[in-house]
Order: sequence, then structure tokens, then C-alpha cells
Amino acid sequence: MRNKNFHKYSLIFLALLLLVSCARETPVPSELPAPQVSVSQHSETPTALPAEEQSTEITETAQAQNHIPEPPENRTHYKLDLILDYYSRYGTVSETITYTNRTGNTLDEILLLVPPRDFEDAFNLQSLTGERVSSHRDEGIRTWVKLDPPLQAMESTSLTILFRLRFPANEGVFGYTNRQLNLSDWYPLIPPYNPETGWIAYNRVTDHNNIIIGEYVVQETADFNVSLKLINQPEFIEVAASAPATMIDDTYYYELPLARAFAFSVSDSYFEHEIVHNGTRIHTYLFMNHQEYGPDLCEIARKALELFEELFYPYPREMISIVAGDFLHNMEMDGMFMLSHKVIDNYHSGEKNNMTILTPHELSHQWFYSLVGNDSVKEPWLDETLATYMEVLYYERYHPETVDWWWRNRVYEYDHSGYVNSDIHIDGGYEKYRAAVYLNGARFMADLRTAVGDEAFFAALKEYAYENTWRIATREDFFRAFSNHSNANLSGLLHQYFRD
Ligand SMILES: [Zn+2]
Repeated sequence: MRNKNFHKYSLIFLALLLLVSCARETPVPSELPAPQVSVSQHSETPTALPAEEQSTEITETAQAQNHIPEPPENRTHYKLDLILDYYSRYGTVSETITYTNRTGNTLDEILLLVPPRDFEDAFNLQSLTGERVSSHRDEGIRTWVKLDPPLQAMESTSLTILFRLRFPANEGVFGYTNRQLNLSDWYPLIPPYNPETGWIAYNRVTDHNNIIIGEYVVQETADFNVSLKLINQPEFIEVAASAPATMIDDTYYYELPLARAFAFSVSDSYFEHEIVHNGTRIHTYLFMNHQEYGPDLCEIARKALELFEELFYPYPREMISIVAGDFLHNMEMDGMFMLSHKVIDNYHSGEKNNMTILTPHELSHQWFYSLVGNDSVKEPWLDETLATYMEVLYYERYHPETVDWWWRNRVYEYDHSGYVNSDIHIDGGYEKYRAAVYLNGARFMADLRTAVGDEAFFAALKEYAYENTWRIATREDFFRAFSNHSNANLSGLLHQYFRD
């Protein structure tokens, strides 16, 4: 019983879990100075963000290209109709996937990834049909769908999948507790396809302590049409989702184009707060004991959004949902993120707290995960290193006097060693993963900034964000953006922080 064990261990290793996340980041704040810490240039340029008016020839060229690329054509479409019984923790789903073969190859099989199968008895397939479906076979979380005739390049086909979900008792982003039901990675999906290496699909990774490491589901940009009908006392229930809802006849309807995934968090205990920033609704869903923190959480998110809109580009969606998680880690989703209730429990006014550290982190994943994709198994640093460094940029902008505290409290008090480009199979498990990808990653970003200078650093980051929107970016894409803005020799840095 993997899930049971996970519970038990998650209690035992609560202290570990409290250390970091997106998966699980929750540094324990400390007011104590750490005498050994050397504070260097990080704090000396507290509000130094890119000076837009200064530009060398090289940045002018690059900035002229700064626009969000055209969205990919013929992208996959998911239609998901969910009927949910919150109190009996049961759902029935009708899913239709419309898929165009953009792989360049002829496909005689399509791979479906079925993440709910990671939980025993959670997923029950009723039927899988389609005009070309001749058979299918299951291998763990994979279902191989045999097509007859095969799908030629640029041909389209549809799959219709009827299934039932029995939600597991699980303190996480899939499953229920006594005050919340979360649906993340809750439906079969078609993973990205690399013409050279095939389907980009992995298995979940847990370490020796049974802690889940990183995120194993890699998604490409797709379109979503989702409906949700609640049955059995729906009047008591609030729904947080990846997009705003339209209610017609007791059913919620959602449209989310150009997204990696669609998530829900459902509860009969949410207290909500909302502000609007530049047309974006920032909407919080907190438990009763935290309801007075809604305005502060919205304000932190608003400031972070403003910063990231300046550093990258305007947040293109109508809404961002911020939801208290009835579990001990934090997690980004598309159009939404969840903050551990522990992070919110420990909130106090001022900025030296985890809610102020982690809200910008999770929000920045709307760029580095959602809009700008990456292979989160092989190159998790492309979202987690960047998101961790966004935390300190938030402090630089809004609380420059607290930047040193952030470095001590977030990085130097913990193991901050290991290759930044480690994958989620790293030896040593979750703690080593966090030390390398998040914390040493932040040090790498600071050193990279020093090496190329502020102007090139921020111009390159912006270019990387623009150029790789809708894509699954790689290390080469990241460093190409930097080489477009700086001639600095980065080989020493690469040698120090990266393995080949
Ligand atoms: Zn993260």
C-alpha cells in the first residue's frame, strides 16, 4: 500500500518536507543570523532590474524580437466532462482527445499517460473508443492505443475515454482530505513526442523515504474545454480551478486555451478573496482559520505578478487561483497554485515568512512550467532553479533590506550543493534534489548574473521567456539567450555548477 506508507512517512519526514517544494518547498524561517554566511553582491544592487533604455547593439536586436511566438497550430484538444460527488469522493468522466500527428512520423500507436493509476484503484476505465482505435494495452500508467489505419503525419483522430475516479485519501494534489478534494493530473493525456527519442513519458520517482521527487508528467501546450457538475449537496461546495467558470444549469463550464493542464481543487470549507490587477483576477481560496490572510496573500501575488510582467511579459490569462493545500508541500498548476496550509499557518505580517517567499516562487511557474515548458524530469532546473531565484528578485524589488535574510534563511542554512542540472533520479533523494536544483541553482543564477552583468542578465532572461513560450525548452535554449546578450566566458561557471 504505497499510499498508506506515503502517509506514514510523510509524517515522519515532516521536517524534511517542510524544507522546499513545488513540490515541496517550505523553508523554515529563522530570525537568527548565520555568522558564516558571506553576503556578497547579491544585496548591493537591491533594485537593479533591467534598464530598458540602455541597450547595446546586441540587445536592441534581441529586444526587437521580443514577442510571444505564434501559438503552435493543430495542438491537442481535451474535452473533459466531469460529474463529481464531493462527499463520496467519486467522479465519472467523459473525455475526448482530438489529436493531430505533428511528430513527422507515421504513428501506429498513440501513448496515453494515465497518472491516476499511480494510486491503487483510483482509475477505472469504462471504455476507450475512436474511429481508428483497434485495441489498447496497459503497462502501469501507460496505455498504448493501437491505431488502424496508422495515423500519417498531420492527420487527426479522436479518442473517447469514459472512466471513473475513486479519489484516494491522500494529502496531495490528487486525492482528498476531510476538507478538500484535489484534481491534478486526473485524466489520461497524450505526452509530447520527440521525433528523435519518441514519447516523453516517465514514471513517478520516490526516494528512499518514499517522498515523491519533482514532477514526472511532461505536458505540451494544448487546449481545454472542461465541464464540472457537482452532485450530492453541491450548494455547500466551492470550486477553485485553472480558469474562471461560466455557470449554466448547475454545471460549471471552463475554457483554457494554450495550457499544459487543467486542475481543480474542491472544498466545502473555502473562504475567498479577490483583487483585480491589470485585468487579471487574483483569487484566493483559504480555510476558515486563515481567512483574514486573503488580502495579504493577494497583495503579495499582485506585487509578484507586477514584477514578472516586467521581467518577462504580461500574464496572458484572465485569472490566477491561489489555493490553500491541506498537505505539507506547495505545487504549481496551470492557472493555479497551491500553498501548504502550514505556510499560511505561519504567516505573520512583514516579509520574513514563507508565504512571502513561496508565493512569488509558485506564481513564477506560470511562466517557467506553464507558458515556457521544460522536461521536468531531465531538466527540472529550467523551472525550479528559475522559480527559486525569482524569490530573491521579489525581495530585491520590494524588500531590499531582507535580501541577505533570504539567502541565509533559504539557501545557506541548508545543504546547497550538487549539480544544478541534476535530474529527478538524483542519488540521495529529495534532500539532494532540493540542495542541487533549488538552492545551488539560486547560487548559480546569482553567479551567472555577476558574470554577464545585470543588463545582459535580465535581457537574456526575458529573451529566454519569450523565445520559448509554448515550447519545451532545453539547456541549449537557456544558454543561447545568454550568449545573445553577453560574450562572457561561462565555462568556469558551467564546470562548477553543471554536469555534462
Ligand atoms: Zn517550484
